Amino acid sequence: PDPTLRPERLAEDGDRALRPQGLDEFIGQAEARANLRVFIESAKTRGEAMDHTLFHGPPGLGKTTLAQIMARELGVNFRMTSGPVLAKAGDLAAILTNLEARDVLFIDEIHRLNPVVEEVLYPALEDFELDLVIGEGPAARTVRIELQPFTLVGATTRLGLLTTPLRDRFGIPTRLQFYTQSELHEIVRRGARLLGVPTEDDGALEIAKRARGTPRIAGRLLRRVVDFAVVEGGGKITRALADSALTRLGVDYLGLDGADRRYLRLIAENYQGGPVGIETMSAALSESRDALEEVIEPFLLQQGLIQRTPRGRMLAQKAWTHLGLDAPRRDAD
Ligand code: ADP
Repeated sequence: PDPTLRPERLAEDGDRALRPQGLDEFIGQAEARANLRVFIESAKTRGEAMDHTLFHGPPGLGKTTLAQIMARELGVNFRMTSGPVLAKAGDLAAILTNLEARDVLFIDEIHRLNPVVEEVLYPALEDFELDLVIGEGPAARTVRIELQPFTLVGATTRLGLLTTPLRDRFGIPTRLQFYTQSELHEIVRRGARLLGVPTEDDGALEIAKRARGTPRIAGRLLRRVVDFAVVEGGGKITRALADSALTRLGVDYLGLDGADRRYLRLIAENYQGGPVGIETMSAALSESRDALEEVIEPFLLQQGLIQRTPRGRMLAQKAWTHLGLDAPRRDAD
């Protein structure tokens, strides 16, 4: 199997027409974008491969999109793979030896690289060389292969899980932030325009407010609201239509979905607001610890709904209010 194919991701994103193609079309992440513009321009002027770049932050914030944009702006090929797909050193070697000068290689979920593969990556990143072991046992020997200079773009939702040597090899580490409401508003309006659906500003804003600070979610909610608009709303997205569609989809006015509310309720109802350890949460919710830490918690933390303490997760007052529950009285100590 071709280790660069990721059909599940293509299916997930569905309409790829919504993906911004250039840096100018990309909305939000102003600081990251301004810096990238300089680094891209400089690499082009010098005729060199751009420095290796690491994007980190929650899923759906545009890491893959920015990597594709980099390749396009640099005028080079884009190759994409992911940490878990690269099982053997040979898988990575096959990709690296096929790169042309200054190409962008994107490795998603780079924190999940097999350590053996990671070892092979180090000299490739530093000196554009591969040291491959051919054969086994006493007959084994190492061959050195020269590579074309290339740019690795790594993406991770878990910076903390990256080994230090790997982290240190990225010249351009970039943290992506949750999007503001007005940025998402613009993203939804752009999406609606591209989908050709008449949309009132208020309708787009309602979707933006409930998109969890995340363009991927904004795109997904937009498509569902379009479905309701087409079938029940005369083809037009208004605020009332967006509100009723999103409510029926279980997305509340803060943008929380069923999984988020189950998370908050568990701490409220079973643990009087916490603290609760993450393993306990994971078992009680039948969700993997990774899913809780990568997908659910970042937004709840950013919204000030929960706090992370050394003894576990705790609900903040805002979460009690949102759930419509009274926080238990705590004795001052
Ligand atoms: P990540 O790699 O961080 O998980 P992606 O780059 O795959 O996220 O982006 C998820 C979806 O959100 C894509 O469909 C993309 O089109 C859309 N998207 C991401 N960032 C933006 C943005 N700034 N403006 C418009 N759409 C965006």
